[in-house]
Amino acid sequence: MPLDLMHDVFSGGKYGKAALVSSFGAESAVLLHLLSRVNKAAPVLFVDTQMLFQETLDYQLHLTETFGLTNVQRISAESETLRRNDVFGRLHLSDTDKCCDLRKLAPLNTALQEYDTWVSGRKRHQSMSRAQIEVFEQDAGRTKISPLADWSRDDIAAYFSEHDLPRHPLVAKGFASIGCAPCTTAVKAGEDARAGRWRNSEKTECGIHFENGKIVRPAA
Ligand code: SF4
Repeated sequence: MPLDLMHDVFSGGKYGKAALVSSFGAESAVLLHLLSRVNKAAPVLFVDTQMLFQETLDYQLHLTETFGLTNVQRISAESETLRRNDVFGRLHLSDTDKCCDLRKLAPLNTALQEYDTWVSGRKRHQSMSRAQIEVFEQDAGRTKISPLADWSRDDIAAYFSEHDLPRHPLVAKGFASIGCAPCTTAVKAGEDARAGRWRNSEKTECGIHFENGKIVRPAA
């Protein structure tokens, strides 16, 4: 049961010092709500790439207040680092891997240094590339836990309905998975939820998530 597992992680201390990493995206409210039921003061790491939709920033504030979360940490690359590496905010047009490294991976990796465990909202149903994920994985010396790994779309929808959770405003516009504004489009009926991420590219993950122990990169 995800609630029991969340209790073990964030209230029982069973897996050491732990943080939840959330994008405050289309389905993030489920895991954040579960967290609020076990420990509202637990750390939540929100990586703000400074390329996000305004709707995501607004939704982050709304969910934080609605769920009473008291330790949401907004993490970004240092402004000097951005100035040196992507002064015009156009790196994503030429090299999405470098851009994700700069704006997501590096700030998150720095923030995770002090934790033994991090918790992710990944689910197997989201895409073919996530079909094999496990609830417990090892990731760069840390335990990575995905409590909702085996939840289906129907499970997610039922939880939203049961707890009357607020929806990300872009969901109503066809966005099933929501990342940075320049790299996210709506999806059509029948597509993977993540088909709108880096559309027309081989890239499927930002690199925050690993598969089979390897960082996910585009095919050569
Ligand atoms: S998703 Fe796009 S804009 Fe966001 S960090 Fe990655 S490449 Fe850059």
